Parts: sequence; C-alpha cells; structure tokens
Amino acid sequence: MPQNILHFFFRSHCLSCGKTLDGSNILICGRCVSHLKSIQEQSEGICPKCCGRLYNSAAKDCFQCSYYNFDFEKNTSIYYYKEPVLKELMHLFKFESNRRAGERLASLLKEKITAFLNTNAFDIIISTPVSSESFRKRGYNQVEFILEKCGIPFLSILKRKTGSPHQMELSAQERRVTIRGQYVMNKNAVQCIENKSILLIDDIFTTGSTLNEISGLLKRNKASSVSALTFFRD
Ligand SMILES: [Zn+2]
Ligand SMILES: [Zn+2]
Repeated sequence: MPQNILHFFFRSHCLSCGKTLDGSNILICGRCVSHLKSIQEQSEGICPKCCGRLYNSAAKDCFQCSYYNFDFEKNTSIYYYKEPVLKELMHLFKFESNRRAGERLASLLKEKITAFLNTNAFDIIISTPVSSESFRKRGYNQVEFILEKCGIPFLSILKRKTGSPHQMELSAQERRVTIRGQYVMNKNAVQCIENKSILLIDDIFTTGSTLNEISGLLKRNKASSVSALTFFRD
C-alpha cells in the first residue's frame, strides 16, 4: 500500500477495531478505550511488591519477588502491557517517533496517574532517563513527554550512560548484571534527595532491573525511600 494511503487510513481509523474516527479521538476510538481495564480494575491477584500477576492466588508474592528482593519499596503499574492497543500505541510512540501516539497514551494515563498521586504522597518525583542515542533517535524521553502532557511536575536528575547495552532479550539476572553502574545522578541533585521519599516513574516494568538499579543509586545517595510508578506492566 502506498505510504500516503497508509497514512490516511492510519489517521482516520481506530487502530484497534478499524472504525472511522470522528475527530474527537485520535488513533483509538472511544468505544475501544472504554474496554480498557487498568490492573487495579482486573480481578486477578497482584503481587504487592512489583504489581506482577499472581498465578497462584494463595501466594503472598510473585515468583520473582519470592527469590529476589528489589531495592525499591513497591512498584505500581497502571495497565498490563499485553493489551494490544496499548502495545501498538507504545510501539509507534517509542520506536517510530509518533508524537500523536504519545499524546493519546497521555490522555489514557492522565486520570490514573493523578488518582495515584492524590492517594500516595511523595516528596519528589523523578523520571527515568533514556540514553542520549535513544533521545536523538526519538526526539524525546518518552516518560517525560507523557508526564509533561499530563501536567505532572518531575525532576530530571539522572543520566543513562552512552553506549549502555540494550536490555531486550536478556534474562532478569542478565539485565541486573549488565545494567549495573549504567546510571548517574547530577552532582547538584544529591542534596535535594537526602532524606526524601521518592517516586521514580518509568514507562514499562519488564524485569524491574532498571528501577532496581536506579533505586539503589538513589538510596546510596541517602533517599529515605524509593517507590516506582510504571505506565505498563509486562
Ligand atoms: Zn475502536
Ligand atoms: Zn512481585
């Protein structure tokens, strides 16, 4: 299909059901959005530590948390990443620099993030950084883009080193090893996190190794506690 026709189709039809969009919704129609359920709205058991699924409802925590102790207090995720519509939007946003997909995601997340922040108090919100290569390719940090669209204030005080190895397709154990030492904090920020409770925000929780690594860094720099909020739980 020629690119311009593809663009036309893409712009005016729901990514999920193919229905023509009426202009008040972008990329996904209102009906498909109304079928999306957040993790908190689902009936299956959730791990109290990492927000992963509990396949055995009698278990206290998930398989991963039963043998590995994360450095963060708790992760809360908003949606499961298995939702095809969310995966598609995230793919467009993260790998095809599609800002409209980012705006649509922000519109789906805003109310849920705000509700979470209204019921959980933190001294500081910190965004997870992307490497400068990813930033150049994409044109934005996808976490910060969404937080800005949602009107949520945050501090951007971390950096991911250039040439950091890619984490995809590694096991949880391999990820924890390869990610060690890959993040640094602005020197001037040390004072502002001392004895503060921190909420770290990232886009997708896969193995938790990124959040774990950054939590360790923040705690070594005297943060009193670190919790995480992630838009999606893989
Ligand atoms: Zn639809
Ligand atoms: Zn868990």
